[in-house]
Amino acid sequence: MSDMGVMEEIAHALRNSMSPGDRLASWTFRWAVQGGQVVCTQCQAYQSATQPCAAFVHRPGCCARRDEYPWRELAALLGRLPGH
Ligand SMILES: [Zn+2]
Repeated sequence: MSDMGVMEEIAHALRNSMSPGDRLASWTFRWAVQGGQVVCTQCQAYQSATQPCAAFVHRPGCCARRDEYPWRELAALLGRLPGH
């Protein structure tokens, strides 16, 4: 077996899905938006919406630390949704 955590395995599987809806589900699985800030659901680190181009800084050891641009990713996802 790999050394990936269960949460990361699920997120990875969702990320590789072909469906834009599933990709959005993956985003909402990994991130939360609270009070104008995006919050990593793994390490609870947060970043203001006023810094969409700055790399997200996770807490040390966070299994989602490779995901550094949640706002950019969300914008790309929304742009890919059918009918938009
Ligand atoms: Zn994190």
